[in-house]
Amino acid sequence: MVEKDIKGRGIKDEKVINAMLKVKRHLFVEKKYLDKAYGDHPLPIGEGQTISQPYVVALMTEALCLRGNERVLEIGTGSGYQAAVLAEIVKEVYTIEIRKGLYEMAKERLKKLGYKNVYVKHGDGYFGWKEYSPFDAIMITASANHIPPPLLAQLKEGGRLVIPLGSTFFYQNLIVVTKQKNSFTVRELGSVLFVPMIGEASKR
Ligand code: SAH
Repeated sequence: MVEKDIKGRGIKDEKVINAMLKVKRHLFVEKKYLDKAYGDHPLPIGEGQTISQPYVVALMTEALCLRGNERVLEIGTGSGYQAAVLAEIVKEVYTIEIRKGLYEMAKERLKKLGYKNVYVKHGDGYFGWKEYSPFDAIMITASANHIPPPLLAQLKEGGRLVIPLGSTFFYQNLIVVTKQKNSFTVRELGSVLFVPMIGEASKR
């Protein structure tokens, strides 16, 4: 999977490649999808949600330009796979999941796998996790038609935020925002299809 779908499609960051090699995706999918765990496609994780396709996980992780000493916030814990990939690279990962069942499953799974630098919270990620802000990087793994302002506010100066932005019914554009002296630069990474962010994000 890593040779063909990660390196083969242009992911170059060694830290991302090593993390993708280390985290075993089959430990994050339901038993019935075990044989599909290393294919480059999303898979159901319960409650109508999906674990992202490995290439997109790598692309979003690479986009955050991580060095290793960062504190990262992830919105949409889901299976916990993306959080585990981040935890292999950075110092601390804070991740928020709005669906209780998924939150409990991911929390238990990450604990069992021995991740001591991942902190999981049940709640609406729209409002971020102020207590531990500012973050060096923020990753939103559910789609929204706008960037939640509290998340931009909790991003450090020079920090990066990646989000599938656009229609929550059709495709979105994966964008990376860099915060610089109260202005923002935006880079587009291409089309993606993510499940929608629910809660506050869907009301606006
Ligand atoms: N990163 C996950 C996959 C994300 S799927 C993984 O590696 O498996 C998107 C997730 O975002 C779903 O689990 C969904 O329940 C969650 N979600 C949707 N809206 C949210 C919100 N407002 N706050 C936190 N999580 C949210």
